[in-house]
This record gives sequence, C-alpha cells and structure tokens, in this order.
Amino acid sequence: MAGTSELNEDKKARKSKRGRGDAPVVEAPGQPDQDERDDRSAQEASVSEDNYEFFKVIQGYLDEAAGIIGLPAHVREMLSQPKNEIIVHFPVRMDDGSLKIFKGYRIQHNNLMGPYKGGLRFHHSVSLDDLKALATMMTWKCALMGIPFGGAKGGVKVDTNKLSRDELMRVTRRFTHALGNNIGPNYDIPAPDVGSNAQMMVWIMDTYMNQVDHTNKNAQRAVVTGKTLNCGGSPGREKATAQGAIHCLTEWAKDNRFELEGKTAIVQGFGNVGSFSSLLLSKLGVSTIAVGDHTGYMRSVEGFNAHKLSDYVKKNGSIAGYEGGQPITREEFFATKADIFIPAALENQLRAPEAELLQVKLVVEGANGPCSPEGEALLAKKGIAVLPDVLANSGGVTVSYYEWVQNLRSETWDLEEVDRRLEKTMKETYRKVAFFASEKKVSMRVAAYCLALRNLGNAYEERGIFP
Ligand code: NAD
Repeated sequence: MAGTSELNEDKKARKSKRGRGDAPVVEAPGQPDQDERDDRSAQEASVSEDNYEFFKVIQGYLDEAAGIIGLPAHVREMLSQPKNEIIVHFPVRMDDGSLKIFKGYRIQHNNLMGPYKGGLRFHHSVSLDDLKALATMMTWKCALMGIPFGGAKGGVKVDTNKLSRDELMRVTRRFTHALGNNIGPNYDIPAPDVGSNAQMMVWIMDTYMNQVDHTNKNAQRAVVTGKTLNCGGSPGREKATAQGAIHCLTEWAKDNRFELEGKTAIVQGFGNVGSFSSLLLSKLGVSTIAVGDHTGYMRSVEGFNAHKLSDYVKKNGSIAGYEGGQPITREEFFATKADIFIPAALENQLRAPEAELLQVKLVVEGANGPCSPEGEALLAKKGIAVLPDVLANSGGVTVSYYEWVQNLRSETWDLEEVDRRLEKTMKETYRKVAFFASEKKVSMRVAAYCLALRNLGNAYEERGIFP
C-alpha cells in the first residue's frame, strides 16, 4: 500500500498502469496513447451529444459551495483533483478459449476522513472523467453523513450483458488481482454500483483473501461491502440506497405537507436503486406508473406491481418483455404526469429537454449526477424540488459503513438495528441540509456540498498540511 499515493496521476503528463507487484509503467507526455483515445471515445459514447463533462460539473458545485462557506483556497485546490488515478489492463480467458484485455480503474479522491470508499461500475461507458466525478462525490457524501471514510470509485469498461456468468467472474477476479494492494479493509473498500452486485463483491472478497497475507481471515472480509449475507454482508444493505432516499422523501413530505398515500411516481433505471425505490414507495401507498431502463420505457396507468416487476427484472436482466405495461418512448416517459420522479440509472439523464417535459413536483436523485446544471435550472424555474444525490442516495454508503464495522468486529446486527441507525442518520442529515438551505437561501444540493466541505475544511485546518 505504501507508495500508492505516488500514483497520483496527471492524465496529460503521464499514465501509470500497475498490477500487484508490477512497477508502474510511465509513458511519454504529450502523445495521446491508445488508452487516452479509448477514454475520449468512451466519454463520447457515455455522454449525450451536448458533450457533458461530469467532473467539470462537480467542480462547479465545489467552487460555488466553497465560496459560500469561505473554504480556504488551498483546501479547495486539494479537493479539486483525486489523490490517485489507478488504471490497469488485465487479460481474461473467454469461454471460447480466446484472451481479451480489459481496462479497469480505481480513482481514489480523498482519504482525509478515513479509508477510500466507493463503488465499482461495470459498464461499457465507464470513463476516467465520470469516475473522477463519482469518486469526488463519494468524498462529499461520507463527509456529509459523518462516516469515517474518504471517497473513491472504480470500474471496468465492459458490457456485462455480453459476458457469461463464468466470464464475468473471471473479469471480476482478475481485476481484483490487478488492483492488488491498492484496495484493502483499512485502505480502500469497494462496493456495488451500476453493473455490479453482491455476488461480484463476494468474488472480490474471495480473490483478495487468497492473495494477501492474512492472520485474521474474518476481518479481511471488510475489504469490500455490499456482499451477500452468507459471506459477511449486512442485513439491509441491498435496499439501503433506496431506503435512505425514501427517508429523505418522507421528511420532505412532512415539511411540505405533501400526503404521500395515493401519489404516483416514475422511475428511471430498475436495478438495485430503482427496484427497491419502487418497492418501498408502494409500501407508502405511492404507485409507480412509468419505468425505464437501458432497453426502453413502459407505462401502466393503474400502477406496476413493484414486486412482480422486480422479480421479472432479476430473472430476465431488464424490463424488456414485461407484460404488465405498455411500451412508451423516452420522451413519453419524461412527459408522464406524476408526483415524484426517481432517476436511478446514469448521470446526465435529466438535461434541459427532459426537464422541459417533466410534470412532477419532486425529483429524488437515487442516481449520481442525474440532473445536468441546465436541467436543474429549468426544474427550479418550474418549481420542481430536487433532493440531491449527495444526500438522497447516501443510505448505501451509510449501511456499507455498518457492514464494514460488523466485519471488523465479527458481529452480525439484525435488520431492525441497521434500519434504526440508518433512519436516524438519514433524517438528522436531511434536517441539517434543509436548515442550511433555508437559512442561506440556497438549493438543497449546494447546502449538502457546503456542509460536507465545512467538515472537510475543519479537519484540514486542525491537522494542517504535512510536513
Ligand atoms: P444497477 O446496475 O443495479 O441498475 C442500473 C439501472 O440503470 C438498470 O436498470 C439499467 O438498465 C439502467 N440503465 C443503464 N443505462 C441506462 C440508460 N442509458 N437509460 C436508462 N436506463 C439505463 O445500478 P444501481 O446500483 O441501481 O445504480 C443506479 C444509480 O444509483 C447509479 O447512478 C449509481 O451510481 C447510483 N447509486 C447506487 C448505489 C448502490 O448502493 N447501488 C448507491 C448510491 C448511488
């Protein structure tokens, strides 16, 4: 682990690729290599035609919030770039006997408050720019929630739909091997994100345990969170992100005298966050009347049966072919009149054109970065409230922290205990953000950033800068 901070990488200056025990490979500056060309094309593929630069957007929010709280310039400067950008290339044998080289990333933004923490995205659109933005947001989330973790994000550029289960397992294990001691229970702790799940976290844990020198095997399980219950996962982790978002929603509803029973929602993305959001909404009497994922969109005037649709997606991998709804276009989805919109897919989905169409009262950001700044400005103009990602989807990392603590202490908490702690933390943090927003007359997003940055700024001030 020593020396990983030396991997700090300026993309323009050098690129280091490192497997466990390998010396970093440094390439000549100035010449765009194949990786950089790949990065660019991935960014082009992942963003829409408006050339969305996710990391720049996050830096814009950082600047705005830093100005409001008077964050010292050097702290702002330190937080504006990740500490380490690790890129690995690794070979995997495919089912047909051929070998394929995959590209994986781990971006470690900041570890002032504790070990780096953040998900692993397995998606064909994964790019350096997006992961830098997502890693940065993890730092804000943990600082806002008062969790002793820093921020990180990683992933593999791969279309998981094109892999068999065995191929996916080999990609996951070989990626873990390539990351080597750049992850660890006290250093950097991955978790699930788009395209990864509890089974993949268990493969990561098992691979890690088999390649490090360990004396306390149980504690090594804490190298990753979001695992299955059999292998050290926490009760309540699977639904945690959605559950946290629902706690924010119920607090917002109280503040705004908004009776939830009988209301309607539309949900984009029907994976972990989207499906659990829909299930938990149904418990509050809110019916999901339109859904969408990477295969398309559908509507059900009488409301989807969230359980049935979740089971269908678990079995079939997407909403495609589900018979309980009528197919609609993406535009029709965004134009569906409802009370609540839960984006739970990718970033930059709610731009100005989608915001123009939207007819809801509230957006609860289950996804990270779903609103572009232009989209958000239009929502504000239309009087549509937004519960921002840094607050609304932080239930996932909060319960990941509970899982980590249980693993390190060899404890198992019951679901009631996890739910009770999560509810308390989410509601208290919601109150702080809502209070700051109304006191300073800023959006909930800017308020969440301000509170997170204030915590980080205070810690930097007390610790000083080494040496
Ligand atoms: P997932 O892989 O379980 O589900 C992703 C969903 O998005 C799938 O239904 C997929 O079909 C859909 N999708 C992908 N591309 C799409 C597109 N172009 N248009 C419409 N839908 C598309 O992932 P997840 O874990 O549910 O994550 C969803 C979002 O929530 C991401 O932004 C992630 O960063 C964020 N998030 C997840 C967690 C967590 O604990 N899993 C925590 C915090 C935030």
